[in-house]
Amino acid sequence: MKSAKTEVVVVGAGPGGYTAAFYGADKGKAVTLVEQDKRLGGVCLNYGCIPSKALLHATKLIREAEESKIRGISYGKPQINLEKLKDWKNSILERLSKGLTTLGKTRRVEVLYGRGHFEDSQTLRVETSEGQKFIQYEKAVIAVGSKPAVPKAFDLGNRRIMTSTEALELEEVSKDLLIVGGGYIGLELGTVYATLGSSVVLVEAMDSLLPGIDPDLVQYVRRYAESHFREVRLKTKVSEMATSGNQIKVTLEFEGKEKVDYYDQVLVAVGRVPNCQDLGLENTKVKTDDQGFIQVNEKQQTSDSAIYAIGDVTGGELLAHRASKQARIAIDVMTGEPSTSADIVVPAVVFTDPEVAWCGLSEAQAASMGIEVEVVKFPWSASGRALTLDRADGLTKLIVEPQTERLLGVGITGCGAGELISEGVLAIELGATAKDMAETIHPHPTLSETLMECAHLYYGQATHISKKAKIRK
Ligand code: FAD
Repeated sequence: MKSAKTEVVVVGAGPGGYTAAFYGADKGKAVTLVEQDKRLGGVCLNYGCIPSKALLHATKLIREAEESKIRGISYGKPQINLEKLKDWKNSILERLSKGLTTLGKTRRVEVLYGRGHFEDSQTLRVETSEGQKFIQYEKAVIAVGSKPAVPKAFDLGNRRIMTSTEALELEEVSKDLLIVGGGYIGLELGTVYATLGSSVVLVEAMDSLLPGIDPDLVQYVRRYAESHFREVRLKTKVSEMATSGNQIKVTLEFEGKEKVDYYDQVLVAVGRVPNCQDLGLENTKVKTDDQGFIQVNEKQQTSDSAIYAIGDVTGGELLAHRASKQARIAIDVMTGEPSTSADIVVPAVVFTDPEVAWCGLSEAQAASMGIEVEVVKFPWSASGRALTLDRADGLTKLIVEPQTERLLGVGITGCGAGELISEGVLAIELGATAKDMAETIHPHPTLSETLMECAHLYYGQATHISKKAKIRK
């Protein structure tokens, strides 16, 4: 039985885990990083953010080429070589993952490939291909992430029923694809498959796509889905699935009525569950909530003083950059620095076409919390840059605290919204006011001007909008 000692053991090498391991090593800690997969990078790099964005980029080129007809530039019908597309996508994952391995090596982070299981609050057992190894640690960081939730009724062991993991493998682009779930994963992958040739039907149990996000930001994505998918059915539930020859028989429920449809493939994108099974948490003092996510305080500490937890496994917004930030907070706290996740601004981006991005307080949140806010919106049809890109389908909005004029939230929908939102994050983090945003010169012609003009509009003086808002000094 092999046993090793380390100062910090990190379980899981996703964007949370590898950031914690690298940052811990940078701060002088002896770190062991344990990963059950064959590659570093976690869901984000291998089965999530990176492969989905690579495919979204490739398929966007197809749509742009098609749309360029109206500008007098025509291309032939695209020839899609699925194998080459997959190879290109996989080469990016390979390159990034190799990069992480090198970055770990140069920092002297010990990487152990195997499945981690807590024996007690100071010992992790790792099942490796060479047998069991035991690590005695001073502090542990749990960063084991999450996996797709698959309701029992859909879990038929039929490869035609996919989660995002299989969908990103792109083994087949079939004729009829049903997507269950109108959240960001369903919409992003629906965009990819519809562009590659599938006839996509998307069903969502709630009464809107991207539930929880301000409807004015979602409207353009809804229009896109309605025109590029065969159908978008809201308030519709899938009650049953069954194998039927080469197809999946699906029973749908809408307003109390049942309907049976047949699909070649089904993508189930109804949420994610934490990877806490068989982790040995019962041998520690770590507590989980009723959905199984690990409970942490704003310092990423669990109820076991030796164990921290970060990223998807802690619930809340399941986002890679949030996991990485929490990693740095955990290591800072561990090394005696004041650090907290209270009040951090976590942006979110949906990489649909157009993109949707927001940060800070949303209009819907303000309403539900009874917080008085002023909301100002700048339509991209008034942006010269948006028109040169032929992308007037956008909107920039600011949520402002009336008494102080402080920016509380920013929402953007439009092409490249994911890149633009960082300005909003910085503004909120720095406590900027609408005046600060309005007085800051933004280069012309850029989409970033929509933020400045939106702030101008707050004072009733936007150059490219004649509608006057309440004039402020
Ligand atoms: P993970 O990335 O899930 O990594 C956890 C790691 O722990 C895994 O490698 C796993 O193998 C390992 N592990 C689990 N159990 C054990 C164990 N017992 N022992 C050892 N290792 C273990 N987020 C964004 O911010 N932007 C996006 O554009 C985006 N797109 C996405 C698209 C898709 C299709 C999906 C599915 C997700 C997307 N996400 C996106 C979410 C993002 O991938 C996650 O929020 C992020 O990966 C969470 O990081 P993490 O470090 O908490 O865990």
